[in-house]
Amino acid sequence: MEMKSQNRLKNQRVLVVGLGKSGISAAQFLKARGARVTVSDARPATLIAEISEMLDQGFMVETGGHGLLTFRRQDLIVVSPGVPLSTPELKQVRAIGAHVIGELELGAEYLQGQMVAVTGSNGKTTTTALIGEILKEAGKPTLVGGNIGRPVTSMVDESTPESWSVLEVSSFQLETVESFKPRIALVLNITPDHLDRHGSFENYAALKARITEFQDAEDFLVLNAEDKNAQMVAAKTAPPGRGAQVYWFSRLRPIKQGAFVYGESIVYVPGEGVRPEPVMPVAEVPLAGGHNVENVLAAVCAAKLAGVESETIRAAVRGFKAVEHRLEYVRESGGVRYYNDSKATNVDATIKALEAFPGGVHLILGGKDKGSDYRVLEPLLRERVKTVITIGTAAEKIERQLDGVVKIERAETLERAVAFAQKTAAPGDTVLLAPACASFDQFENYEQRGRVFKDLVAAIP
Ligand code: ADP
Repeated sequence: MEMKSQNRLKNQRVLVVGLGKSGISAAQFLKARGARVTVSDARPATLIAEISEMLDQGFMVETGGHGLLTFRRQDLIVVSPGVPLSTPELKQVRAIGAHVIGELELGAEYLQGQMVAVTGSNGKTTTTALIGEILKEAGKPTLVGGNIGRPVTSMVDESTPESWSVLEVSSFQLETVESFKPRIALVLNITPDHLDRHGSFENYAALKARITEFQDAEDFLVLNAEDKNAQMVAAKTAPPGRGAQVYWFSRLRPIKQGAFVYGESIVYVPGEGVRPEPVMPVAEVPLAGGHNVENVLAAVCAAKLAGVESETIRAAVRGFKAVEHRLEYVRESGGVRYYNDSKATNVDATIKALEAFPGGVHLILGGKDKGSDYRVLEPLLRERVKTVITIGTAAEKIERQLDGVVKIERAETLERAVAFAQKTAAPGDTVLLAPACASFDQFENYEQRGRVFKDLVAAIP
């Protein structure tokens, strides 16, 4: 991608909204390019750990609320993914034509080299990490970031025209793009998530499709052939002939262009009428659950499109370790196996986790509800789950929706949930934390929830 003149930001008045990791990075990026940066965060200063560091670095910082005037007098406003566009001040200034973008858009404009962007409701982190490992194994100068931890603006200085930047991209970040044009874009799946913030499933699905909005015929769009909402994204890359070239992946059937499972193997077809090329045996995928085979198929497509040899892909995938909190095996105690899937923050991820175990599951569900429908869990609960143990503020809704389906125990806290599971589980059973909810009612984030779970499990005698 052509590099924008870094001078364009000089002396511009820019407001960064939200002092999280990406907000701080955006502010530093802008300042380094000569912009006059103000930062605004609705939290009181006492709750912002980085505040003194930011003041020391000479930033103007507004805390404890947003001043409408602060928002009005800017040339550019950069919002953090955690700040909804429905924030009243943002709504007002956008209505009168303010230029509002996200940190992804800001950083991606200046990144040199090629971009691979991964979105979807579930599997983004795993697939992003997989693609990063494969490209590294292939000897390509690879940078990995976006939603996965490293803000895009912090990658810019390290990027060169030879770089491959693999970016995990959330629907929040796609809400604020206006030119984001990845060479390879992937949509893994689109299932209900974050409906509390996006209002409707249609809005949420439309946002995911924005990953391809600015792609053209030199770009590639990789879609899950088994996900009907992801399929619909193909139509969004019109106009025909000028949109991205579409590749597919499927775990269930042969497809004409892309990656699929054929017998015992993962194979790749570069184009219609070409013979499938074997990439690796499915049995060599070192991650639990069929959903992870899908993640590998998606990564195979991206890697092939980036020009990586099958042998290299196979070696990188074989050496891959599950990312922490993603269906992570913790330990066995008294014949009971414990798994931490704290990252299962929506119902679909919980379904995928349950599908990885044939039966005898004690499932810890609950936390902060995101407007989800837990009734879709019913068939799997009947088939594979002995008890549901609820925690957090969503407990009541879960119990109401699943009344009569399985035995339900209200534990309130994770501590009591683990204690109860340990008492009730029989040898051969599985205790699974896959809560289908956000963590913010009782924990700082899903990582902390997962660590607390692992500590409790480690403490079982
Ligand atoms: P994301 O970054 O999109 O949240 P992760 O890789 O962190 O994705 O996984 C999130 C949750 O979804 C985990 O519980 C994981 O086990 C589950 N998961 C991973 N890949 C998939 C997939 N392809 N489809 C459905 N669920 C998945």
